[in-house]
Amino acid sequence: MLKMTREKDLKQIHDEIKSCKKCALHETRLNAVPGEGPVNAKVMFIGEAPGAKEDETGRPFVGRSGKLLRSLIAEAGLAEDEVFITSILKSRPPKNRTPKKSESEACMPYLERQIETINPQVIVLVGGVAISNLIGPWKLADAHGRFYEGKGRTYFMSYHPAAALRNPELKDVMRADFEKLKKDLR
Ligand code: SF4
Repeated sequence: MLKMTREKDLKQIHDEIKSCKKCALHETRLNAVPGEGPVNAKVMFIGEAPGAKEDETGRPFVGRSGKLLRSLIAEAGLAEDEVFITSILKSRPPKNRTPKKSESEACMPYLERQIETINPQVIVLVGGVAISNLIGPWKLADAHGRFYEGKGRTYFMSYHPAAALRNPELKDVMRADFEKLKKDLR
């Protein structure tokens, strides 16, 4: 598909997300957060849901944990124009609670359309919520640093950066995971 057509498709998806009322989270959000990055990104990073800063700005991964994720991505040698970052939910759950099944089910078609349009080489799932919604439940201790092939896609799993902020030892674990990812992308 032509890049221009794909850009138009992605914009269309993002416009729909910004005005979406498919679940109750639209009532409490300030801004929906569709995601950020070019349509020809080779790696897609998927987290859990927007937090306070993301809700405020409409941009993904801009709070404390987002800054950590972005710095780990940069350390792994991936440029901003090579990655697309988004999450399972596009609207913030109140007090950052875990997404409800009904909310992730309502929101999933947007993510599926983003994946189809961007068609990345690898989809990096950060944290248990992203992993269980895309490829099924895994224990993070077993899952992190591993690739998974399924539904015609290549996935890579790691911790959510918020977990690394709570437990700083996980920062090095994530760094090592991203190093593996980087080697595979060469
Ligand atoms: S979380 Fe998803 S389904 Fe729910 S209102 Fe936001 S964009 Fe729509």
